[in-house]
Amino acid sequence: MLGKHFATELAHLGRQQPPVALQNMRVVMTNPDLAQFLNLGPEWLANDTLLSLLFDSESKIATQSMAQKYGGHQFGQWNPQLGDGRGLLLGDTRALDGQLWDLHLKGAGPTPYARGGDGRAVLRSSIREYLASEALHALGIPTSRALALISSNHPVYRETPETAAMVIRACQSHIRFGHFEYFYHTDQKDKLDDLFAFCFRHHFVDCANADNPHLAMLEKITLETAKLIAKWQAFGFNHGVMNTDNMSVHGVTFDFGPYAFLDDYDPEFICNHSDHNGRYSFEQQPGIALWNLNALAHGFTPYASVDEIRQVLEKYEPTLLTHYRDLMLAKLGLEQVMPEDQRLLSDWLNLLEQDQRDYHQSFRLLAEFNVADGGKCDVLRDHFIDRDTYDSWAQRYYIRLKQQQSSDQARHLTMNKVNPKYILRNYLAQEAIEAAEQGDFSAIQRLLKVLARPFDEQENAEKYAQGVPDWGKRLEISCSS
Ligand code: AMP
Ligand code: MG
Repeated sequence: MLGKHFATELAHLGRQQPPVALQNMRVVMTNPDLAQFLNLGPEWLANDTLLSLLFDSESKIATQSMAQKYGGHQFGQWNPQLGDGRGLLLGDTRALDGQLWDLHLKGAGPTPYARGGDGRAVLRSSIREYLASEALHALGIPTSRALALISSNHPVYRETPETAAMVIRACQSHIRFGHFEYFYHTDQKDKLDDLFAFCFRHHFVDCANADNPHLAMLEKITLETAKLIAKWQAFGFNHGVMNTDNMSVHGVTFDFGPYAFLDDYDPEFICNHSDHNGRYSFEQQPGIALWNLNALAHGFTPYASVDEIRQVLEKYEPTLLTHYRDLMLAKLGLEQVMPEDQRLLSDWLNLLEQDQRDYHQSFRLLAEFNVADGGKCDVLRDHFIDRDTYDSWAQRYYIRLKQQQSSDQARHLTMNKVNPKYILRNYLAQEAIEAAEQGDFSAIQRLLKVLARPFDEQENAEKYAQGVPDWGKRLEISCSS
């Protein structure tokens, strides 16, 4: 059974209410590996038991589920009116990593924070959340996870009529930057104190014994966020809605909307079509995360001096740069940092950008480079349009690789462990979603299975590794959800 630490200790930071069922619900996807990690019983994986766990009025969950209140900076503007408008915290569980993990049901009906919304989530966006969480996890990018997906024929209206669904999301906690911002900016110091005390008791236990626990916690959030963003940048992930209410204090990817992985390498890529100024474009993400940490840090000002806080935030940039550099050098197959590597990397990225080459395929192909053959690599050379620029870059890469001891074969293997062959392309998600909207979830299951092992060569999976068809590039994903 689930615990209820947040609902008991912080009941005054939200509103208790039960989930509201949908018409003709069906549990269409479950995640047994995650259920095992979370120490959950088999009742979480079977249609009838899961539905009664969630929706029977006498079920314990119905009496402890709650909507959390928070605020957030949306596109740079402070908004105190946010909170779980359609999601409910179900309770928590002690997972195999020894940590407390929360379960949350998204699309569970309107709450006091719904601001006129219907409290529901459409199938399309629920599937996208499920796919992204599991794909990022398999790539080694910290993220909230997806435990189950419930579909229905319950009508909901967005641009067109659609059907509602629910996702059970798992995360260490659902505490966002916006939680601290809200209780700070509304002068509710008692509640802010309670929220911090809860964090020290359950989620930032190591920080509780520091000289200044609040500073230690801010430092942890700063460093984990920096490492997360380094991974987004290295794996070509564009979140799309980095509002502070979508930022997890655990430094994990959180609240998926119109996200996308890069196809062709384009640092200015904007996956969110309502983001007209590109505030959340791919290349803006590192700066925006720091902006968000600054917004969060206001909530820490009652507990530390501005100078102390500034010193903590100053650790963000070097942490991010070091992690990003290490990840990118590994993607290039370089074992140690040399002074010229930065230029080698940026010239490689410039080549991809100018030639509009696919980010992931290009790195995967780079592993074919052969030092033993004098740096010859036809499949890689043929991949580029501007062969002269490629040739001069390849010559430098060849000289650089010759400084390393390892064989071509060894480098090939290690590079393939960091350069995924299979990526969650928007068009792949879209094809699978269209089948699911017709009631066929087999394409989703197949896609999930391939994405669970993104670095391994898999049989009969070539279709998932091919270049993106023209129709699939820059797909306009609806931002409504
Ligand atoms: P999101 O874009 O999912 O991060 O949501 C932003 C805010 O709007 C959060 O406070 C959500 O709970 C709320 N929200 C989004 N869609 C709905 C909906 N259909 N009904 C109620 N609240 C919603
Ligand atoms: Mg959100």
